[in-house]
Amino acid sequence: MTDDVSRSPLHAVERSGGEAALDSSRTRLNRYPARGHYDWDTITAILDEAFVCHVGFVVNGQPYVIPTGYGRDGRYLYIHGSAASRMLTEAGTGGPVCITVTLVDALVLARSAFNSSVNYRSVVILGHAEPVPGERKLAALKTISDHIAPGRWEHLRPVRQSELDETAVLAIELVEASAKVRVGPPHDDADDYHLPISAGLIQLPQAAPRIVPDPQLSPGIEMPAHVAGYARPKRALEIDEAGDGQP
Ligand SMILES: Cc1cc2nc3c(=O)[nH]c(=O)nc-3n(C[C@H](O)[C@H](O)[C@H](O)COP(=O)(O)OP(=O)(O)OC[C@H]3O[C@@H](n4cnc5c(N)ncnc54)[C@H](O)[C@@H]3O)c2cc1C
Repeated sequence: MTDDVSRSPLHAVERSGGEAALDSSRTRLNRYPARGHYDWDTITAILDEAFVCHVGFVVNGQPYVIPTGYGRDGRYLYIHGSAASRMLTEAGTGGPVCITVTLVDALVLARSAFNSSVNYRSVVILGHAEPVPGERKLAALKTISDHIAPGRWEHLRPVRQSELDETAVLAIELVEASAKVRVGPPHDDADDYHLPISAGLIQLPQAAPRIVPDPQLSPGIEMPAHVAGYARPKRALEIDEAGDGQP
């Protein structure tokens, strides 16, 4: 894509050449630019594996970043929620939105705090969210359901008209986006590799974290208890299970 970020009409005929790069001057990474990817395949591979995004929008000068589920169909990302939801009403006014998606693959344990990192695959999308008109809402909702839980839609009772009326759906066209991917072992300072300090990856998420020793680990260094016994802290949250009916 070029730096011309003019908006395409919603549900325009899908452009040919969906593999076109999605970068612009605004989506070019500054730090570690080699980790930036702007091709359709990389970006959509990440979007298709994940199903949670964070929607950023500005209300009265205050940025809000709200997590929500999404679905993708071709060049469009769909999000939905209560028609009364601020995210849906504000983001759907046509103003600029920024949507991020993150998959965390591993903790990268270096020999210093400075070089410790995370292996991840993330996407940033710049664009505009536009309300999906009534006649396309059901199809967009099926897209979201199929993305998150394939096969579920057909299993469920049909959506009621009242439910459709209470639900707003927004579409964001993929025209300007970037992916950033970090893979591999830690990159320590040359002087640090000989230190008697553990290093490697903790790959996530897995039923049991798998420790991956750094290929450059000095012989004889065992993974200490805080690495070998790694577990995510689980806290019981005090939540009213009755909820408010929202997902
Ligand atoms: C799980 C995780 C942990 C991270 N931890 C840190 C950390 O501790 N410290 C840190 O500085 N950075 C961290 N990052 C990287 C961070 O997201 C930015 O990439 C980083 O701040 C550098 O941004 P920049 O200045 O190059 O780009 P910016 O100038 O901020 O952004 C320019 C453009 O680059 C693109 N871009 C920037 N970051 C990403 C991204 N992650 N994915 C896709 N596109 C992107 C966007 O299109 C953006 O518009 C982390 C990322 C993830 C996913």
